[in-house]
Amino acid sequence: MSKKEAKADSKRVSFVTQQNENRQQVIQQTENKVVEAPSVLSVREFAELLKVPVTEIIGALVKNGVMATINESIDYDTMSIIADGLGFSLTEKAEEEIKLETKNTKKHLTTRPPVVTVMGHVDHGKTMLLDAIRHTDVISTESGGITQHIGAYQVTVKRENKERTLTFLDTPGHEAFSAMRAHGANITDVVVLVVAANDGVKPQTIEAINHAKAASVPVVVAINKIDLPDSDIDRVKRQLADNGLLSEEWGGDVPMVPVSAKNKENIDEIIDMILLVADLKELKADATLPATGVVIESHMQAGRGPIATILIQEGTLHAHDVVVIGSTYGKVRIMENYLGKKISEATPSMPVRIAGLQEVPNFGDRVLAVADEKEAKELTKVKSIKRKVLSIGELSRDIKAGKIKELKLILKADVAGSLEAIKKSLNEISNEEVKINVLHEGVGDITESDVNMALASEALVIGFRVKASSDVMNLARRENVKISIYDIIYQLLDDLTAALSGLLEPEIVETEIGRMKILAIFKVHRNEKIVGGKVTSGKIENNCEVKIVRDKETIGEGKIVSLQQNMKDAREVLENFECGLKVETEIKLAEDDSLECYRKEERVRRLC
Ligand code: GDP
Repeated sequence: MSKKEAKADSKRVSFVTQQNENRQQVIQQTENKVVEAPSVLSVREFAELLKVPVTEIIGALVKNGVMATINESIDYDTMSIIADGLGFSLTEKAEEEIKLETKNTKKHLTTRPPVVTVMGHVDHGKTMLLDAIRHTDVISTESGGITQHIGAYQVTVKRENKERTLTFLDTPGHEAFSAMRAHGANITDVVVLVVAANDGVKPQTIEAINHAKAASVPVVVAINKIDLPDSDIDRVKRQLADNGLLSEEWGGDVPMVPVSAKNKENIDEIIDMILLVADLKELKADATLPATGVVIESHMQAGRGPIATILIQEGTLHAHDVVVIGSTYGKVRIMENYLGKKISEATPSMPVRIAGLQEVPNFGDRVLAVADEKEAKELTKVKSIKRKVLSIGELSRDIKAGKIKELKLILKADVAGSLEAIKKSLNEISNEEVKINVLHEGVGDITESDVNMALASEALVIGFRVKASSDVMNLARRENVKISIYDIIYQLLDDLTAALSGLLEPEIVETEIGRMKILAIFKVHRNEKIVGGKVTSGKIENNCEVKIVRDKETIGEGKIVSLQQNMKDAREVLENFECGLKVETEIKLAEDDSLECYRKEERVRRLC
């Protein structure tokens, strides 16, 4: 290694260490009761872990709409939400640690290939660069193989007589990256940021920088199109420096390689730089363990059934293994690599396409190889609740309680001028106790990428004189991300000021969703009544609150804690259908009583 390389090397190490120290400090400052938990635990084990009564956990689960008994299992997200509510902060135990603990095996850690995502502004040459890199693959070139489009592929290069492999996610772009993070899967080890030397830093370049920053993933910059006469490498470096990426040559920590994807110039250099950055991260995995991974692509294929491309993160997946993927499972019937070649084993960082699942899994679902179908069935029964992003009202309440020290925002505005004006005012309203942290800002409409970033980082999306398409709004609604759009600047600032000072107490609004009439009383406990009846209007939903009405007068309240239609558990029962239900209430229910099912919704002034 040359002197210069060694210097760059040590700089990167100190940068990484510094980042880790900072992160650690933040964790220590903001959270006191930090508890480590594995991905799945039974309710009893979880209670023991937190050292709180199991009834308290069950109560908190019920409040979140999950009916789980003491021996049933809950997943990490669910535990995390419950823990938050009880004043704990959960951190996830690495899958590898859990396995090693439970199976009591030795660690056999070996280096695994880095997983790389290419990002950058449209037309700056992401696809062409990926193609150029793909052409350096000694394996596909030697075998004459044609890479399949399975969402990811590997490239093996020879360096000093050694083969080095890298895994590239094939869907360049921010959506895949942020969607993956939104699902809690930070699978990228290195981001390659492509910037066209003739065009410079553009809005999507900045967006990519912010995504990488938010995920704490190191960046290698490819300054592309240097073959063009109007290319200006220094200008790109200056612009990147303005956006927080300082080139190594200028004393910073970010490697920047001028390339031409078109002329295949400096492609080996960029690959070397990715490998160097990856080596500093000392990426290791234990290939002797049962496989774990994440779904990066999935679909239904005629004749083959559900197909999933998964990226193996730990362990080895074998053909005929039984795998649990999200809420489905199956036996790996066919396993192919990125060249479409049948393989019998897949090791860490390898993308593989598998068939044999019961259903099509979701993008971002976790994959876990298990002993047999019995275990798979047990695991797919794990109870879970959806991760919820706090609303502004809840944030405001937590700020008031001193639980939150930072209001994270994604800010979009119609023009750069208004963006600047808003940011300046935000600085002024940011106070000692609570900071406003703009994770990402940009000119233009609110996109799915913004929503995914908000979800991954638990931020609010604030728009000023911009729009959000119905697709974007639907995604936000599904994922519980709050988008607030303003036309008047002072309203925006008013709301944020109020949120910051903890003044935005949410207002609870009740909306009726249906009614039913009780036709029979089956069982009466002190706090629980099991009854049968018919839905007379709207619908009845499990877990909803009810008002008990007798002779047109409300005589009490309760909550539906279990709902059945035709003896089967149901989420909802519609008008004119009969149902059986368990109601939590102290009121002695009687035939002919009506239950009015209503939903409590939180509304906060303009922000929601
Ligand atoms: P993407 O949108 O970032 O994936 O960009 P593409 O890879 O599709 O490239 C956009 C355009 O830039 C295409 O017309 C490419 O031919 C061109 N392009 C990509 N890389 C280079 C390069 O190194 N030099 C030149 N001159 N053109 C390039």
